[in-house]
Amino acid sequence: MPEPSNLPPIEDFIREVFEENFELLVAESGHTISAEAKQTALNQVLLYWRKLRGVAERVTDTEVHLTLPNQETPQGREYTIEGVVDIVREDDRVIMYDIKTHDADYVRANLELYRQQLNVYAHIWQELRQQPLDEMAVIATDFPREVKEALSNPDPRALEMALAQWDPIIPIEYDPAHKDETIFAFGEVVDKIESGEFAPPPLEVLESFITGGWRRERFATRVCRNCDARFSCDAYRQYAMGRRQVAEHGMVYFIEDDPDQEEWRTASLDASA
Ligand code: SF4
Repeated sequence: MPEPSNLPPIEDFIREVFEENFELLVAESGHTISAEAKQTALNQVLLYWRKLRGVAERVTDTEVHLTLPNQETPQGREYTIEGVVDIVREDDRVIMYDIKTHDADYVRANLELYRQQLNVYAHIWQELRQQPLDEMAVIATDFPREVKEALSNPDPRALEMALAQWDPIIPIEYDPAHKDETIFAFGEVVDKIESGEFAPPPLEVLESFITGGWRRERFATRVCRNCDARFSCDAYRQYAMGRRQVAEHGMVYFIEDDPDQEEWRTASLDASA
């Protein structure tokens, strides 16, 4: 990634802590990721810092755990809703941020999903914790295509320009009207999990394109290819069997859909040794 000549020491600190965290996660899980995926993750953290340093430095309450206990599902099961947010208290104003690793265009195109979740958090913050709240926003840390392209440009000004155009903060309105519906929907999901209802969506869903975001991708590409259950999933098998790659390469489509899969497999074997 092109670096500004006046690289601040904090970026060195971020690299160091990122590496420590990475090693800890590998040791705990016995899994790792490819070198390319690891570099992409580090870039996301560094660019988040470069772009949102102003917000990051103003955060007064970080990783605030919000809990809504004693909820009841439609089938009568008790459950608890939990969430984690960052809070900025500045002058007389309080702002709640929910950090997502999604891209900003996707969040804007699917705002209702994020609004529902953040409004439940706002309800917990205001009603149960009795705290004031003036604004809410999602921070989308996945950088856009322009930034991705600028990363491979040796001229650091290209990255500066792309970062200047990136707008990763998406304000969310506080609207408590739909809070109960959202909590009810959470309860329905809990019931399905507890009842062992894990049926995959129909083939049409896997073939459909996900709305919004700069990557035009099918559900099967964006979601299923990151899903460990795809090897035993009927919907994915149906989808994969209809692809040209299956006709040409048989089952290879299931396991070699990413150029750095081999590197990832080898690294994971090393990590679990
Ligand atoms: S592969 Fe995974 S994400 Fe895709 S439909 Fe099957 S279970 Fe769902």
